[in-house]
Amino acid sequence: MSLQDDLVALESARKNVGGKQCRIAEILAQLNAKDAAALNHLLDETQVFGTQIAETLTKNGHHTRGANVQHHRRRVKGGGCNCPLPNAAS
Ligand SMILES: [Zn+2]
Repeated sequence: MSLQDDLVALESARKNVGGKQCRIAEILAQLNAKDAAALNHLLDETQVFGTQIAETLTKNGHHTRGANVQHHRRRVKGGGCNCPLPNAAS
């Protein structure tokens, strides 16, 4: 393998990471519009713990963990997932 091959492989690996949907985005895509809006509202409501949201989602058949919720919430401040910000979508 040449250096160029290695560098191209690094580039595509980075793209895959950046383009990957987080678990919360996957769940949001599976929900109907009403449920997705309610979940988005809770995600913006930082007084509700991520673990509580994750437990509720898991109980309803959408398995996730509190860490997934926190990762998704951190996208606003940076350092989280690459999902679009709430006000960027509208
Ligand atoms: Zn996300």
